[in-house]
Parts: sequence; structure tokens; C-alpha cells
Amino acid sequence: MEGAGLVGKHILVTGGTGLAGRAIEKVVADGEGQLDEEWIFMFFRDADMMSTTETKALFELCKPTHVIHLAAMVGGLFRNICYNLDFWGAGFWGSPPCRSEKSLHPQRRNILINDNVLHSAYETGVQKVVSCLSTCIFPDKMTYPIDESMVSISVPRHLPGDIPALLNSLLSYPQIHNGPPHSSNFGYSYAKRMIDIQNRGYFEQHGCRFTTVIPTNVFGPHDNFNIEDGHVLPGLIHKVYLAKQTGSALTVWGTSKPRRQFIYSLDLARLFLWVLREYDEVEPIILSVGEEDEVSIREAAEAIVEAMDFRGELVFDTTKADGPFKKTASNAKLRRYLPSFQFTPFRQAVKETCAWFNTNYANARK
Ligand code: NAP
Ligand code: GDP
Repeated sequence: MEGAGLVGKHILVTGGTGLAGRAIEKVVADGEGQLDEEWIFMFFRDADMMSTTETKALFELCKPTHVIHLAAMVGGLFRNICYNLDFWGAGFWGSPPCRSEKSLHPQRRNILINDNVLHSAYETGVQKVVSCLSTCIFPDKMTYPIDESMVSISVPRHLPGDIPALLNSLLSYPQIHNGPPHSSNFGYSYAKRMIDIQNRGYFEQHGCRFTTVIPTNVFGPHDNFNIEDGHVLPGLIHKVYLAKQTGSALTVWGTSKPRRQFIYSLDLARLFLWVLREYDEVEPIILSVGEEDEVSIREAAEAIVEAMDFRGELVFDTTKADGPFKKTASNAKLRRYLPSFQFTPFRQAVKETCAWFNTNYANARK
């Protein structure tokens, strides 16, 4: 665990060694932390959050007043396709997972992690928890752009036997529960959907201020650059690095026509600080660049090619899956709160990430 200073707010960041956690750590270290904040960045070795006992012990030790909950099993399209069950969290109901099982098959079951974190936060009186959803929680068949109203619950109360009110309540149920997510990542997506359900429950029954953010595709330094498991940008950066070494072609998977909104991890980190300090709703908020900044996978690959000065051939392997064609999200709500927030231009952020990977190749996650 790494902390700094000691005063009013004790902020525990679960998943502090990951892409988003490292970005928050950097932004705080670079001067955006405040004097009344003590930041604690949690390492996996501090507590396995699949274990109720270890999670509770960590909360009792750190006594956080605020939590940014990032710890999760995370992966790109191809990892999700292979491990939907693990991304959800089956296998351990009734008994806590043990370290030996984890070391044999290092899965992080999201439903367990989220349940342990939220319940420990409730039990130890944490004032605010900010957890992460994802744009993949929305049904595959959806109208675009996605926005937060599709997650809002306004279920009218009804008396037993009051059928019209019951029907009305079912019809007004939020759209995320009206259809399944894309089949490629149903395990991860359903586990994420449940965080919002739990937050609403903790608010209704106990008045807890547990909220969520919905980032679009995140990238930046400290990402997972593993080619099989990682997301598209770190995967392609690593592939270009290797292609340059061997003088071979760059293989982009799928048709490269799907579209994504990418957010730079350092921009996301600055937004996390604002959400933690100033955003008071339980309702989620989408953290994304605008719809006009959505790019195709081909454009994303070209940005990497330019940033890494790759002169070789590009090959498109259309035998590989495309995943969802798009998940276009509106950032109108964010813009209402923060009209002048400046996102780092995509190509600049890609350049910085490629430069980081080139410099840190030996120790990067890959
Ligand atoms: P990441 O780089 O994979 O980091 C995940 C972190 O969780 C790591 O520090 C990992 O520790 C930790 N962790 C995993 N299992 C754990 C366990 N059982 N106990 C304790 N810690 C555990 O992921 P990220 O991209 O930063 O994602 C952060 C959050 O944003 C996640 O909730 C993710 O679902 C969400 N999100 C990510 C994206 C994206 O594009 N990356 C998009 C939308 C939402 P180790 O490193 O030691 O394994
Ligand atoms: P998603 O946004 O959650 O679907 O996940 P990814 O970040 O893994 O992006 C997947 C999209 O990028 C799909 O359309 C893939 O076909 C495409 N893609 C192209 N090349 C790669 C690659 O090397 N790795 C990954 N993960 N996706 C790739």
C-alpha cells in the first residue's frame, strides 16, 4: 500500500496498480491532490478482494472515508470471449476463494470483488464510494447515443394486486435491464450492471452515497499490453513494437470497421477526482470524449502506426471477431457539469502512450 500525508479524507483506491489506478496516482502526485486528502493506493498483495475476510480486514485497517473502486478482472474483447464465466464470478458461492486456487488459475471474479468492497464500505461507514461501470453494460440492441437515463430507475411503488401499477413499474424499468449485453462479454457486463443495483439498494435502505462512473474505452501508460488479453490500443501498440523488431506486417484483428470512443487514462483520472469531490448523485455519469471523437479501429491503428513511425504493411484478419459494432455514448451530462473540461487530443494521447511503452518495455504489463 502506498499513501501520502494524513488529514481529513482517507481515500482508498482499490486496483491501485492498474491502468486507471496508476493514472490517478500520477495526477495526485503531479499536484492535483488536496491538503485534506490522504491517498492509499491498494496493491493486490494487500488484499485479495475476492475474499470477504481480507477485504473487511483491509477496510478496518485503512479506515477509508472515501473509496474509488477500480479492482476488477478486466480484459479486451478476446479475453472476454474466452472467460465469460470468470468475468461474472461463479464458482465460489458459499465459501471464500482460497489463495491456492487463485494461484493455480488467476481469475478475478467481479461479482465477488464488488460485493465484498461495497459491503465492507457499508459496514465500516465509508462516506462515498465511486465504482466503475462500462459502456458494455448496455443492451446490444440499443438506440444511440447511450446516455445515463437508460440506467435510471424510477420504479413506482405499487400495492399487492395492483396490476396496472406493477405493469407500469416493469415498463418503466431502465433500459439496461430490457435486453442482454453483447454476447462477447456477458459475464463482465452483468457483473457490472449489478453494481448499480447494489448502489441503489444501499442508498434506499441505508442512505449510502455509493455511485458509479461509466468510462468508455480507457488507454494510457501502465495499461495491459498483453496481445491476447488486452484491449485494442495496447494490443496494437505491442504488435507494432514487435513488427518493427522483426520487420513483419502489423495484423489488425477483425474488419477494423467497429467504432470506439477512447479516453486517455490521465483525463479519466482528473475526472475521477472531480466525481469524488463534487458529484453528489447516486445515478451514474458517463465519462467520455464527445460522440464526434469516436474513431474506427482502422483510424486507431493508423494513429499508432504514425506515433511509432511504423513503415510496414497493415493486414486485416477478418477471421477474428469484431465485437460490438459501436457503443457510442453521449457526454452531455458531463458537459453540463464541466463545460470547459479539456480532453487530451486522441493522437497526442496515443503518442504519449507509445512513448511510455517504448521506454518501459522491459517492465510493462505484457
Ligand atoms: P486493470 O489495469 O486491469 O487494473 C485492475 C486492477 O484490479 C489491478 O490493480 C489488479 O491488481 C486489481 N485486482 C484485480 N483482481 C483483484 C482482486 N481480486 N483483489 C484486489 N485487486 C484486484 O484495469 P483498469 O483498466 O485500470 O480498470 C479499472 C476499472 O475501470 C475496472 O473496474 C474496469 O472494469 C473499469 N473500466 C475499464 C475500462 C478500460 O477500457 N480499461 C473501461 C471501462 C471501465 P493486479 O494488477 O495485481 O492484478
Ligand atoms: P471492446 O471495445 O470492449 O470490444 O474491446 P477491445 O478494446 O478489445 O476492442 C476490440 C475491437 O478492436 C474489435 O473490433 C477487435 O476486432 C478490434 N481489434 C483489432 N485488433 C485488435 C487487437 O490486436 N486486440 C484487440 N483486443 N482488439 C483488436
